[in-house]
Amino acid sequence: MEKKKFETNAIRTQTERSPHGEHAVPIYTTSSFVFDDAEDARAQFASEKEGDIYTRYSNPNNNEMIAKLCQMEGTEDGFATASGMAAMFTSIAAFVSSGDHILASRSLFGSTHQILTQIMPKWGVTHTYVDVNTPIEEWEQHIRPETKMIFVETPSNPALDILDLSALGQLAEKHQLILNVDNCFATPYLQNPAEFGAHIVTHSATKFLDGQGRTIAGVILGKAELIEKVRFFGRHTGPALSPFNGWIISKSLETLAVRMDRHCANALRMAEILEENEEINWVKYPHLPSHPQYALAKKQMKLGGGIVSFEIKGGVERGRRFLDSLKMLSLTANLGDSRSIATHPASTTHSKLSPEERAVVGITDGLIRISCGLEHIDDISADILQAIEASNEIIA
Ligand SMILES: *Cc1c(COP(=O)(O)O)cnc(C)c1O
Repeated sequence: MEKKKFETNAIRTQTERSPHGEHAVPIYTTSSFVFDDAEDARAQFASEKEGDIYTRYSNPNNNEMIAKLCQMEGTEDGFATASGMAAMFTSIAAFVSSGDHILASRSLFGSTHQILTQIMPKWGVTHTYVDVNTPIEEWEQHIRPETKMIFVETPSNPALDILDLSALGQLAEKHQLILNVDNCFATPYLQNPAEFGAHIVTHSATKFLDGQGRTIAGVILGKAELIEKVRFFGRHTGPALSPFNGWIISKSLETLAVRMDRHCANALRMAEILEENEEINWVKYPHLPSHPQYALAKKQMKLGGGIVSFEIKGGVERGRRFLDSLKMLSLTANLGDSRSIATHPASTTHSKLSPEERAVVGITDGLIRISCGLEHIDDISADILQAIEASNEIIA
């Protein structure tokens, strides 16, 4: 097959047409699939013949979504899950046994942190956290004979720190570990961890892959022999994605490139505008020259992403007033939506951590995270700037 570009594959990869000749792919809402005869049934169950048997195992809509994502990420195979967290958990649980150890970046999505600290230890799987700005040589010191996996997220949420994927890829290779990268913030359009040596790439498809805040979904991608283990685990434990949600994500992938171009352009402009504002202590955006890992972000990410973090002067109280002063941006627990979203981690998602614990992962009291949507940048920036001003007046 002739090698086509990212955008073209995202649009032209399609489940085989039915006898009805539909143009857009239908939704295959069926629990199971019919065998031709007894021999066909036997051969499919024996994995001698490919085919969909039961939607907990696979389904044409989910297969299409996976095929597109494999082309985008440069991976061989994948398994679709009912949520991003089902993808995170399955991609860990499928590979570890009691006594194993996971080396992870400390800056992880909240529920991933709960899996490593509260859930995996119940089955005797331990972990060591490394801070994001720790040099890779120091990561190596934490590798033990029982270490099985390195789990990271880059850029991190919400501090937008960047980890060196190629150095981590080499470290994993040297010690024969599985490098598992949650690529949710970057999306496959901006960053392909497999290119740098990641063996498993995980996504919350709920975010930019859907892009319109309509559904919850996840995916695990990687080398065929590793996905075989994931598929075994998933097939028997049941985190399968519903075909309807697989259909939504697959359709959304058709517009991922154009959407991400605009998300990133809006976010970069917003970051530049905020950097000039006197009420802001600092702005963090991967492709802003002031980002501490700007060169690395330029090297491994095509564009800077759709998320901007900044610190507003005045701590927790000012942060809360800022949110209350917004007129257009949504206050909601999501990101990667066509609608711009503002969050204040210190008073919400990370409020259970002590200020010291928050500081370790770069979350200061005044930190605000903006998921830049697809509204006109002039309207996004006008709302943010008026809220900065309104939240300040209350102090005076
Ligand atoms: C949202 C998110 C998840 C969890 O995904 P769900 O689809 O909400 O289950 C995992 N990792 C990152 C980085 C996320 O942003």
